[in-house]
Amino acid sequence: MIDVLIIGSGPAGLSAAIYARRANLNVTVLEKLYMGLGQVAESRQVDNYLGMPGMNGYDMGEAFRRHANDFGAEFLEGEAAEIKKEGDIFCIVLKDGERLSARTVIYAAGAAHRHLGVVGEDVLAGRGVSYCAVCDGAFYRKKIVAVAGGGDTALDDALYLSEMCSKVYLIHRREEFRGAKATLLKLREKENVTILAPAVINKVKGENKVSGIVLSDGSEIECQGLFVAVGMEPQTELLKGVVTLDKTGYVVADETGKTSVDGFFVAGDVRAKALRQVVTAAADGANAAVFAAEYLRGLAL
Ligand code: NAP
Repeated sequence: MIDVLIIGSGPAGLSAAIYARRANLNVTVLEKLYMGLGQVAESRQVDNYLGMPGMNGYDMGEAFRRHANDFGAEFLEGEAAEIKKEGDIFCIVLKDGERLSARTVIYAAGAAHRHLGVVGEDVLAGRGVSYCAVCDGAFYRKKIVAVAGGGDTALDDALYLSEMCSKVYLIHRREEFRGAKATLLKLREKENVTILAPAVINKVKGENKVSGIVLSDGSEIECQGLFVAVGMEPQTELLKGVVTLDKTGYVVADETGKTSVDGFFVAGDVRAKALRQVVTAAADGANAAVFAAEYLRGLAL
């Protein structure tokens, strides 16, 4: 029987694993992909985690995982498909049919990239449509690309891509940008960057790879890559009807991580909260593990 099943292997899940192991609990971390590491692994550079400015995101995620592993957390590759509570025990069915039993669950599955939802996007994903400039940008050296979005991710991506691509179109649906003014100013000074706002992408064109995009006014832009940076969505599909979610789909819990179901905790970006950063994810993981340990002590009485 697992004391603490942690679903998700990003900073929240791995921090929870470290704290739960230090409370002498047996811990299994369910990771969707071997060495998944979460969104932090997509960051070229993390400048705001204390004590390690400029660290590469993948290296940071790997260091977190090594730490949890060295402290005795078990790692299991798999994806949860169903979660039920039977008495005091959680029964988790994985996509491959394997069943796990746990006395507590810390849900730290994070958030996934939102899609534009336009014709051609899904079919050309991985063939010119990308959701991670840091991961895929190098494939578009000296090529023409478009970036969709108006938040910090889109602005940072456009700036990053402008260093290697021959041309970058930044396409945002409104005139006003959510992202930092300073980055926008830098982009406006770049000769190879064109900002189109307001402009709406209606279609991604291409047979086996992206050849261009079509805007809602009917105009076409020739490009080999489209980087979609339009925000994130919580990974809570399997929690519907299991725990209370807010109207945008995030799990409702205060900083203890306690959800509407006793013994089921949440940590990281998937929790309804104001600031989603590596440092807040790590803090959430610590809290959830401490309160999971307290809950288990209560069960043993
Ligand atoms: P975000 O702030 O939620 O911005 C998403 C952008 O995509 C918005 O401009 C939004 O347009 C647009 N959008 C959403 N759905 C769309 C759709 N269906 N079609 C077209 N456009 C759509 O997401 P983010 O940029 O990923 O940032 C997430 C959080 O991380 C933010 O808090 C951000 O500040 C932080 N972050 C910080 C940094 C940094 O500090 N350097 C870097 C990256 C991210 P509207 O504006 O019209 O809603």
